[in-house]
Amino acid sequence: MHLCRNCNAPLSLTFADLGRQPPSNAFLTDPEQPETIYPLHAYVCEKCWLVQLPSTVAREAIFNDHYAYFSSNSKGFLAQCQQYAERMASPAMFPYVVEIASNDGYLLQYFAKLGIRVQGIEPSANVAKAAIAKGIPTTIDFFGVSTAMIEEMMRGQADLIIANNVLAHVPDVHDFVEGIRILLKKDGTATVEFPWLLNLIKGCQFDTIYHEHFSYFWLYPVMDILAQHALKVIRVEKLPNLGGSLRLFITHFGDCRDRDDSVEATLREEIQFGCHNERIYIDFLNAITTVKRDLVNFLLQAKDDHKTVGGYGAPAKTTVLLNYCGIGKDLLPYTVDTLPFKQGKYIPGVGIPIFHEDHNFADMPDYVLLFPWNLRTEIEGKIGDRIRTWNGKFVTAIPSLEIF
Ligand SMILES: [Zn+2]
Repeated sequence: MHLCRNCNAPLSLTFADLGRQPPSNAFLTDPEQPETIYPLHAYVCEKCWLVQLPSTVAREAIFNDHYAYFSSNSKGFLAQCQQYAERMASPAMFPYVVEIASNDGYLLQYFAKLGIRVQGIEPSANVAKAAIAKGIPTTIDFFGVSTAMIEEMMRGQADLIIANNVLAHVPDVHDFVEGIRILLKKDGTATVEFPWLLNLIKGCQFDTIYHEHFSYFWLYPVMDILAQHALKVIRVEKLPNLGGSLRLFITHFGDCRDRDDSVEATLREEIQFGCHNERIYIDFLNAITTVKRDLVNFLLQAKDDHKTVGGYGAPAKTTVLLNYCGIGKDLLPYTVDTLPFKQGKYIPGVGIPIFHEDHNFADMPDYVLLFPWNLRTEIEGKIGDRIRTWNGKFVTAIPSLEIF
């Protein structure tokens, strides 16, 4: 039996069982190439309510030179990063800023522009090199106690540590959080962002569960983990990112700043939603099954009716949804993506080809199956008019099947 990575309790309550799947960003150059698949089965700890995938995949198998995610590819996201940097970037308050999982320097570049000393830490060498080329000093390594000790010795403690969407990627959360404690100055601040479980469950966003994400968070277990390392949360902000995220402001226990009302309000919201209640997890399992049944039925019916279907988008969530539903080329002949490095490749596990985004306009399918539900409005605005010129319709599967 697997044990909770926070509290060591045995894990028996299933959160989502999405079958056996390859790493979701391991795009194929040849649809026939052999792949390694791993069980994608998430559990919820009944003692501390941390939702997690047992560590069956070595992180080196995922975050290597082939890791395909470059943060700077999303323009809307960059605008938010700039806002955050401009708000936080006070050289008087934060003369030295360290970002963990700094990717291609997408965020630190804005601090650097404001004359603030920065340091990135990033394990994927290819994205880290892109940051270094931009002039953002970057240590190529995973973050934890040993990296934090070396950084502290070489460059000193940080006034601001930023860790956005990385806590979920960490197999050993205690080693990671202890690293923050070591590297954070006595009166420093850390900000940590992660997609909030409440929104994941509400929006049935089970396609964001993938091997790259070891944990899925309520505020409650994160505060529990932090407290074990003498760190506390003093403020919580809600962000629209990635289906709805939380940003925590964290300090050492001894810091004189008081906790504001947002912390208790968020905890209360989680309890009212039912984070401690087995019922919501059972309902979530049923909701996932409904998504699968409705999507597969829709595609089978479209085929019977001689209607054509093309996909739109090939983010990691496309891989998860298609593999979970067992949808292959017979039901979905292709998808498209705006990112050139994905075009000409194939979706892992199911071998569906990824074409240039203009392919939909040439093919003119009756239905365009939209995978990035988080960008729905943006995509509809961009290509909706064109698709309707041939009476095409959009289809989304999540949170529930919708044709529009
Ligand atoms: Zn636990």
